[in-house]
Amino acid sequence: MNILLYVLGLTLSAVTGAAPIPADEKPVQKVRTGFIDGWNQVPLKRLEDQAARYRGTYYLEGLHNTKRIALTFDDGPSVYTTALLKVLDKHQVKATFFFLGAQLAESPEPARAALKAGHTIGNHSYDHPYLTDLSPSQLWDVQFGRTQRLIKEKLGVVPALIRPPYGFVNDSQVTLLAGKQLKLILWSIDTQDWYVAQRLGAANALYNTVLNHVHPEAIVLMHDGGGFRAGTVEAVDMLIPALKKQGYEFVTVDRMIGTPAYLAALP
Ligand SMILES: [Zn+2]
Repeated sequence: MNILLYVLGLTLSAVTGAAPIPADEKPVQKVRTGFIDGWNQVPLKRLEDQAARYRGTYYLEGLHNTKRIALTFDDGPSVYTTALLKVLDKHQVKATFFFLGAQLAESPEPARAALKAGHTIGNHSYDHPYLTDLSPSQLWDVQFGRTQRLIKEKLGVVPALIRPPYGFVNDSQVTLLAGKQLKLILWSIDTQDWYVAQRLGAANALYNTVLNHVHPEAIVLMHDGGGFRAGTVEAVDMLIPALKKQGYEFVTVDRMIGTPAYLAALP
Protein backbone atom coordinates (compact mmCIF):
# COMPACT_ATOMS: atom_id res chain seq x y z
CA MET A 1 0.00 0.00 0.00
CA ASN A 2 2.73 2.47 0.99
CA ILE A 3 4.66 1.69 -2.17
CA LEU A 4 1.53 2.36 -4.23
CA LEU A 5 1.07 5.71 -2.51
CA TYR A 6 4.72 6.54 -3.11
CA VAL A 7 4.45 5.73 -6.80
CA LEU A 8 1.32 7.87 -6.96
CA GLY A 9 3.30 10.73 -5.39
CA LEU A 10 6.11 10.35 -7.92
CA THR A 11 3.59 10.30 -10.75
CA LEU A 12 1.91 13.45 -9.42
CA SER A 13 5.21 15.27 -9.13
CA ALA A 14 6.15 14.18 -12.65
CA VAL A 15 2.87 15.62 -13.94
CA THR A 16 3.15 18.91 -12.02
CA GLY A 17 6.90 19.30 -12.47
CA ALA A 18 7.27 19.74 -8.70
CA ALA A 19 10.00 18.16 -6.58
CA PRO A 20 9.32 14.49 -5.75
CA ILE A 21 7.45 13.94 -2.51
CA PRO A 22 9.61 12.32 0.21
CA ALA A 23 8.63 8.71 0.91
CA ASP A 24 7.70 9.46 4.54
CA GLU A 25 5.19 12.15 3.52
CA LYS A 26 1.57 11.79 2.46
CA PRO A 27 1.40 11.90 -1.34
CA VAL A 28 -1.95 13.70 -1.32
CA GLN A 29 -3.90 15.88 1.09
CA LYS A 30 -7.65 15.44 1.31
CA VAL A 31 -10.73 16.79 3.03
CA ARG A 32 -12.25 13.82 4.88
CA THR A 33 -15.66 15.32 5.63
CA GLY A 34 -18.50 15.60 3.12
CA PHE A 35 -19.75 18.51 1.06
CA ILE A 36 -22.92 20.38 2.01
CA ASP A 37 -24.81 21.54 -1.07
CA GLY A 38 -26.41 24.93 -1.42
CA TRP A 39 -24.14 26.98 0.87
CA ASN A 40 -21.64 28.36 -1.66
CA GLN A 41 -18.92 26.19 -0.10
CA VAL A 42 -15.57 25.74 -1.76
CA PRO A 43 -15.56 22.53 -3.84
CA LEU A 44 -13.42 19.89 -2.13
CA LYS A 45 -11.57 19.14 -5.36
CA ARG A 46 -10.52 22.77 -5.60
CA LEU A 47 -8.99 22.57 -2.11
CA GLU A 48 -7.23 19.31 -2.93
CA ASP A 49 -5.88 20.55 -6.26
CA GLN A 50 -4.49 23.73 -4.70
CA ALA A 51 -2.93 21.71 -1.86
CA ALA A 52 -1.13 19.58 -4.48
CA ARG A 53 -0.06 22.61 -6.54
CA TYR A 54 1.19 24.62 -3.58
CA ARG A 55 2.58 21.87 -1.39
CA GLY A 56 4.61 23.43 1.43
CA THR A 57 2.67 26.70 1.19
CA TYR A 58 -0.96 25.64 1.32
CA TYR A 59 -2.05 22.88 3.72
CA LEU A 60 -5.16 20.82 4.27
CA GLU A 61 -3.38 18.67 6.86
CA GLY A 62 0.07 17.90 8.20
CA LEU A 63 2.25 16.11 5.65
CA HIS A 64 3.45 13.30 7.92
CA ASN A 65 1.63 10.50 9.69
CA THR A 66 2.24 11.19 13.36
CA LYS A 67 -0.70 10.87 15.73
CA ARG A 68 -1.04 14.60 16.17
CA ILE A 69 -4.08 16.79 15.59
CA ALA A 70 -4.60 20.55 15.38
CA LEU A 71 -7.82 22.20 16.52
CA THR A 72 -8.44 25.50 14.75
CA PHE A 73 -11.04 28.19 15.44
CA ASP A 74 -12.16 30.91 13.01
CA ASP A 75 -14.11 34.17 13.07
CA GLY A 76 -13.31 35.32 16.63
CA PRO A 77 -12.33 36.84 18.92
CA SER A 78 -15.66 36.77 20.73
CA VAL A 79 -17.19 35.64 24.02
CA TYR A 80 -16.86 32.06 22.73
CA THR A 81 -13.08 32.50 22.53
CA THR A 82 -13.08 33.11 26.26
CA ALA A 83 -15.23 30.02 26.86
CA LEU A 84 -12.95 27.90 24.66
CA LEU A 85 -9.82 29.14 26.44
CA LYS A 86 -11.24 27.78 29.68
CA VAL A 87 -11.90 24.37 28.13
CA LEU A 88 -8.49 24.21 26.43
CA ASP A 89 -6.79 25.20 29.67
CA LYS A 90 -8.70 22.55 31.60
CA HIS A 91 -7.37 19.88 29.22
CA GLN A 92 -3.92 21.49 28.84
CA VAL A 93 -4.23 21.68 25.07
CA LYS A 94 -2.93 24.38 22.69
CA ALA A 95 -4.94 25.35 19.62
CA THR A 96 -4.79 27.80 16.71
CA PHE A 97 -7.10 30.81 16.36
CA PHE A 98 -7.64 32.57 13.03
CA PHE A 99 -8.97 35.96 14.02
CA LEU A 100 -10.87 38.52 11.94
CA GLY A 101 -9.45 42.05 12.04
CA ALA A 102 -12.89 43.59 12.49
CA GLN A 103 -13.56 41.36 15.50
CA LEU A 104 -10.14 42.04 16.98
CA ALA A 105 -10.67 45.81 16.67
CA GLU A 106 -13.90 45.45 18.63
CA SER A 107 -12.86 42.96 21.34
CA PRO A 108 -9.10 42.48 21.67
CA GLU A 109 -9.17 41.04 25.20
CA PRO A 110 -10.01 37.40 24.38
CA ALA A 111 -7.31 37.53 21.68
CA ARG A 112 -4.71 38.77 24.17
CA ALA A 113 -5.73 36.01 26.56
CA ALA A 114 -5.37 33.40 23.80
CA LEU A 115 -1.86 34.57 22.93
CA LYS A 116 -0.86 34.75 26.59
CA ALA A 117 -2.08 31.18 27.16
CA GLY A 118 0.25 29.92 24.42
CA HIS A 119 -2.19 29.38 21.59
CA THR A 120 -1.17 30.33 18.06
CA ILE A 121 -2.76 33.39 16.46
CA GLY A 122 -3.43 33.45 12.72
CA ASN A 123 -5.05 35.93 10.32
CA HIS A 124 -8.48 35.22 8.80
CA SER A 125 -8.83 38.55 6.84
CA TYR A 126 -10.40 41.79 8.04
CA ASP A 127 -14.10 41.17 7.48
CA HIS A 128 -14.53 37.79 5.79
CA PRO A 129 -15.08 38.52 2.08
CA TYR A 130 -14.97 36.02 -0.77
CA LEU A 131 -11.36 36.67 -1.71
CA THR A 132 -11.71 35.60 -5.32
CA ASP A 133 -13.71 38.79 -6.01
CA LEU A 134 -10.84 41.00 -4.78
CA SER A 135 -8.04 42.83 -6.57
CA PRO A 136 -4.47 42.34 -5.26
CA SER A 137 -4.59 45.65 -3.36
CA GLN A 138 -8.00 44.83 -1.85
CA LEU A 139 -6.66 41.41 -0.86
CA TRP A 140 -3.61 42.80 0.87
CA ASP A 141 -4.22 46.44 1.86
CA VAL A 142 -7.87 46.05 2.88
CA GLN A 143 -7.87 42.47 4.18
CA PHE A 144 -4.75 40.50 5.19
CA GLY A 145 -2.18 43.32 5.39
CA ARG A 146 -4.56 45.53 7.34
CA THR A 147 -5.21 42.68 9.77
CA GLN A 148 -1.49 41.90 10.08
CA ARG A 149 -0.92 45.52 11.15
CA LEU A 150 -3.82 45.37 13.58
CA ILE A 151 -2.66 42.09 15.16
CA LYS A 152 0.83 43.58 15.50
CA GLU A 153 -0.63 46.70 17.13
CA LYS A 154 -2.99 44.88 19.52
CA LEU A 155 -1.02 41.70 20.27
CA GLY A 156 2.57 42.49 19.32
CA VAL A 157 2.98 39.55 16.92
CA VAL A 158 2.86 39.16 13.12
CA PRO A 159 1.19 35.88 12.16
CA ALA A 160 2.81 33.57 9.63
CA LEU A 161 -0.39 31.56 9.22
CA ILE A 162 -3.48 32.74 7.39
CA ARG A 163 -6.79 31.14 6.54
CA PRO A 164 -8.85 32.28 3.53
CA PRO A 165 -12.54 32.85 4.41
CA TYR A 166 -14.71 29.98 3.09
CA GLY A 167 -11.52 28.40 1.70
CA PHE A 168 -11.81 30.36 -1.55
CA VAL A 169 -8.56 31.81 -2.90
CA ASN A 170 -7.21 32.16 -6.47
CA ASP A 171 -3.88 30.73 -7.55
CA SER A 172 -2.51 34.24 -8.17
CA GLN A 173 -3.57 35.20 -4.63
CA VAL A 174 -1.82 32.14 -3.19
CA THR A 175 1.34 33.31 -4.97
CA LEU A 176 0.95 36.86 -3.66
CA LEU A 177 0.47 35.67 -0.07
CA ALA A 178 3.29 33.12 -0.31
CA GLY A 179 5.53 35.99 -1.44
CA LYS A 180 4.85 37.60 1.94
CA GLN A 181 6.20 34.47 3.71
CA LEU A 182 2.70 33.36 4.73
CA LYS A 183 1.41 29.79 4.90
CA LEU A 184 -2.20 29.15 3.91
CA ILE A 185 -3.94 26.81 6.31
CA LEU A 186 -7.15 25.12 5.20
CA TRP A 187 -8.55 21.97 6.84
CA SER A 188 -9.01 18.21 6.47
CA ILE A 189 -11.98 17.90 8.86
CA ASP A 190 -14.77 20.47 8.64
CA THR A 191 -16.85 19.94 11.77
CA GLN A 192 -19.61 21.91 10.00
CA ASP A 193 -20.34 23.69 13.27
CA TRP A 194 -21.40 26.69 11.15
CA TYR A 195 -24.18 24.48 9.79
CA VAL A 196 -25.35 22.52 12.84
CA ALA A 197 -24.73 25.29 15.37
CA GLN A 198 -28.30 26.03 16.40
CA ARG A 199 -29.62 22.50 16.39
CA LEU A 200 -30.42 20.46 19.40
CA GLY A 201 -27.57 18.02 19.99
CA ALA A 202 -25.08 20.11 17.99
CA ALA A 203 -22.21 19.18 20.33
CA ASN A 204 -22.83 15.47 19.80
CA ALA A 205 -23.02 15.93 16.04
CA LEU A 206 -19.67 17.75 15.97
CA TYR A 207 -18.12 15.19 18.28
CA ASN A 208 -19.22 12.34 15.98
CA THR A 209 -18.06 14.15 12.85
CA VAL A 210 -14.54 14.47 14.22
CA LEU A 211 -14.35 10.94 15.65
CA ASN A 212 -15.66 9.45 12.40
CA HIS A 213 -13.03 11.23 10.28
CA VAL A 214 -10.01 11.58 12.54
CA HIS A 215 -6.65 10.74 10.96
CA PRO A 216 -2.96 11.47 11.60
CA GLU A 217 -2.07 15.18 11.44
CA ALA A 218 -5.65 16.30 10.91
CA ILE A 219 -6.46 20.01 10.85
CA VAL A 220 -9.94 20.45 12.35
CA LEU A 221 -12.07 23.47 11.39
CA MET A 222 -14.32 24.99 14.05
CA HIS A 223 -15.56 28.48 14.92
CA ASP A 224 -15.31 30.73 17.97
CA GLY A 225 -17.26 33.58 16.33
CA GLY A 226 -19.81 34.43 13.67
CA GLY A 227 -22.82 32.96 15.45
CA PHE A 228 -24.00 30.85 18.35
CA ARG A 229 -21.06 28.58 19.24
CA ALA A 230 -21.98 26.97 22.56
CA GLY A 231 -22.18 23.61 20.78
CA THR A 232 -18.60 24.00 19.57
CA VAL A 233 -17.34 24.74 23.06
CA GLU A 234 -19.16 21.72 24.45
CA ALA A 235 -17.93 19.46 21.64
CA VAL A 236 -14.29 20.45 22.26
CA ASP A 237 -14.68 19.55 25.93
CA MET A 238 -15.82 16.04 24.93
CA LEU A 239 -13.43 15.57 21.99
CA ILE A 240 -10.14 16.22 23.72
CA PRO A 241 -10.35 13.34 26.24
CA ALA A 242 -11.76 10.96 23.59
CA LEU A 243 -8.92 11.68 21.16
CA LYS A 244 -6.26 11.60 23.86
CA LYS A 245 -7.54 8.14 24.72
CA GLN A 246 -6.90 7.13 21.08
CA GLY A 247 -3.31 8.36 21.47
CA TYR A 248 -3.61 11.73 19.74
CA GLU A 249 -1.49 14.66 20.83
CA PHE A 250 -2.91 18.15 20.35
CA VAL A 251 -0.58 20.67 18.73
CA THR A 252 -0.77 24.09 17.14
CA VAL A 253 -0.70 24.19 13.33
CA ASP A 254 2.77 25.79 13.22
CA ARG A 255 4.17 22.93 15.30
CA MET A 256 2.41 20.35 13.18
CA ILE A 257 3.81 21.64 9.91
CA GLY A 258 7.16 22.69 11.39
CA THR A 259 7.07 26.41 10.65
CA PRO A 260 7.38 29.50 12.87
CA ALA A 261 4.03 30.84 14.11
CA TYR A 262 5.13 34.45 13.68
CA LEU A 263 7.21 36.55 11.31
CA ALA A 264 10.00 38.78 12.58
CA ALA A 265 8.41 41.87 11.06
CA LEU A 266 5.55 43.08 8.88
CA PRO A 267 6.26 42.21 5.22
ZN1 LIG B 1 -14.48 32.20 8.67
